[in-house]
Amino acid sequence: MKVPILTYHSNNISGNDYATNNHVALAEDLRVIAGSGFRIVQLAQVVDALLGATPPASVEHAIALTFDDGSYFDWYDMAHPSCGIQRGFAGILRDFAMASGQAAHATSFVIVSPDARAELDVTCMVGRDWWRDDWWREAALEGLVAIENHSWDHNHATLSRTVQHAQDTGTFKSIDTFADADAEIRAAADWLDAHLSPWRSTLFAYPYGEWNDYLVHDYLPRHRSEHRLRAAFTGDPHPVETSSDRWRLPRYVCGHHWKTPGDLERLLRELHAGCSPLRRF
Ligand SMILES: [Zn+2]
Repeated sequence: MKVPILTYHSNNISGNDYATNNHVALAEDLRVIAGSGFRIVQLAQVVDALLGATPPASVEHAIALTFDDGSYFDWYDMAHPSCGIQRGFAGILRDFAMASGQAAHATSFVIVSPDARAELDVTCMVGRDWWRDDWWREAALEGLVAIENHSWDHNHATLSRTVQHAQDTGTFKSIDTFADADAEIRAAADWLDAHLSPWRSTLFAYPYGEWNDYLVHDYLPRHRSEHRLRAAFTGDPHPVETSSDRWRLPRYVCGHHWKTPGDLERLLRELHAGCSPLRRF
C-alpha cells in the first residue's frame, strides 16, 4: 500500500497560472493523475484500507485529494476581485469527471468556528464574507466533497483571540494540553456533527500540517470516545503506507512539495514504479 494524498488551498489565488493559482493547478493535475494511471478514491477509503476494514487492494494505484480551510472557493464559482472568475474546486472535479468518465472526489478540511472564519475572511481573504458554511451540509450529503475537521480556529495568528490558553498562535505545535486539544479538536467535531447530521466527521488535518508528540501519542489515541476521530493528517511529504501511524498520516502540499505538472508526474511515476512487482526483486 502506497497511496499519495494531495492537498490544495482554494484561497491560493494571486494570478491565473499554475504557480499562482491552485484552481489552475488542480485542473491540470487531474489530467496528470489520470494520465499516470492513478484513480481517485475517497480519503475515507484510504483510512479504511489502512485500518484493515477493507483489503489493501482496494486502494491499489489510488490517490486521494484534500482541500484545506473550507472557503467558498472550494464549492462555488467566484469572481475574484483582481483575478477574475474562478471555477470552484467542486466544479473542477465535476468538469474532470464529465470529460474523463472517471470518478472524482475530494475531502475538504474546514476551519469550523464561524467567528474565526468571519474574522479570517477580512484578515486573509478579500473581506466579502466568502468563508461561510452554508454549502458544507449540501456538499457532505451529496458526496462529491466530504467535509472534515481542520480544527476550531486554526490557532491562526491573525485572529484577535484563539482558544489556545497562552495565545501562542500561528502554529499548531502549541496545542499541547488537554484543554487546548479539546477546544481545537473535540469542539470542532461536535459542531460539525451537530450541523451536518446525519454526516459524521471522522478525519482531522493538522493546521499548518503541524503535529506534536502530545497530540499524536496521547490526546488522539487516548480520547477517542470524546473526539470520535479515526485518523489525522500532517503535511509531511510521503505516501500513506501500511506502516503509517494513523494519527500522523502524510500529505503532499501543492506549491510546496511539487510546483509544476512535471513535478507531480515524476512523483507519481516513482510511486507507481515502487509498486511494480519488478522492482521488488
Ligand atoms: Zn489550514
